[in-house]
Amino acid sequence: MKVYNSLTHQKEEFIPLKKGEIKMYSCGITVSKDAHIGHAIQAMIFDIMRKYFEKKGYKVIYARNYTDVDDKIIDIANQLGINPMEHAERLIKKTDDEMHKLGISDATLTLRATEYIPQIIEFVKKLIEKDYAYATPEGDVYFRVSKFKDYGKLSHRTLEDALESVRIDNEKNKETPFDFALWKSAKPNEIYWESPWGKGRPGWHIECSAMNYYGLGEQIDIHGGGRDLIFPHHENEIAQTESLTGKQFAKYWFHNGLVKVNGQKMSKSLNNSILIEDILKKYHPEIIRFALLQTNYKNDVNITDDLFAIASKHMIDFYKTLAEIESKNLSSKKENKLIEKSFNDAMDDDFNTAKALANLFDIFKTMNNKLRNSDESVIEDYNAVKNVYGLLGLFKLKAKDFLKQTHKEIIIPDYVVELANKRLETRKLKNWKESDELREKIKQNGFDIIDNKDGYKLEKIN
Ligand SMILES: [Zn+2]
Repeated sequence: MKVYNSLTHQKEEFIPLKKGEIKMYSCGITVSKDAHIGHAIQAMIFDIMRKYFEKKGYKVIYARNYTDVDDKIIDIANQLGINPMEHAERLIKKTDDEMHKLGISDATLTLRATEYIPQIIEFVKKLIEKDYAYATPEGDVYFRVSKFKDYGKLSHRTLEDALESVRIDNEKNKETPFDFALWKSAKPNEIYWESPWGKGRPGWHIECSAMNYYGLGEQIDIHGGGRDLIFPHHENEIAQTESLTGKQFAKYWFHNGLVKVNGQKMSKSLNNSILIEDILKKYHPEIIRFALLQTNYKNDVNITDDLFAIASKHMIDFYKTLAEIESKNLSSKKENKLIEKSFNDAMDDDFNTAKALANLFDIFKTMNNKLRNSDESVIEDYNAVKNVYGLLGLFKLKAKDFLKQTHKEIIIPDYVVELANKRLETRKLKNWKESDELREKIKQNGFDIIDNKDGYKLEKIN
């Protein structure tokens, strides 16, 4: 199978370090606020990668972390007047619950920064011994970037480039501006742990290096995360780990794209963040997954106003076909192997979920034709779709349950019926322009209008 490696900037044949086994790590969430849809996409795609590798027969150890202590967590907890550890704990529980609802499984290992403090301290001590790090009189410890010759190999930046994006802050006694903190001395009244350098807490980058080293070993096959982590976070992880081990840290680096909302970056300043809890209130998890997986993981997902509504329509159509097949009580366990093959071909090409989902339209067209022709081999397509696409978290339910959960009670408001009746009149008069305008109005009110021999049918857009 081919995978895109951010380290080499190309698609490569995937060959793990040890035959049949994969160690993979993805950087998880800093639990300062409620999780948003970007977090969901990141967790979902790495979960799918892991499940696909398992389907191919690999033994996968997948580790994922929660950053449960950092400046933002401390700030927000202070504003709320609660203990930062309690705040982090509450958000971890809530986030786990939301991820489960979205059909995302727990990693093999879920690591938390605060549970790795002794290992982090040990790691920092070793870097100091090897002269790759230094402590300041204030009790901070910094990584000596200039000593690590490969710095910039992942982000393809020089130190001069890097300098532009280094935060100029009031960190004292740094040898050079691009040195970054491994250990931060505690400010008054701030949460701290004892260390050889005094009271303090770990920097962000070191936690991932230490958790990898002590949790998975010196080298791993795959390291991943959002594309925004390439610099400085992943660059710094490489510097820390490879300085300690003298070996290549991760063989493959996978980075997923970011989230846009109507073409704009999702950000705090634009106030356009979409929280997982909010989207779960509006749409069925399978609809959310279908909508998001239509974009290949490396690309940015653009969340437009009708992305979920359209996904909802497709999923309901698909499930209606499945419902019809289920009502026939066909009993074959056979599967149409061509469906699996086309799925594997798509996924073997760098986890191309967009292609795998596009295939569904042809698959369901064939199934509908078979139904029309009373071709009982449709059950083999049904079995394959349920089995193969289950890996993407789709078609997990009995069709009637899905349709019940998504349709709820459909109450069509009077004014929508009026619009539909008016449209029927305009069609009789062959006034197509007005008819199209009315269709648009009906759509804006949340309904699709489907013309048929009896006139029309209204369907709620979810
Ligand atoms: Zn990380």
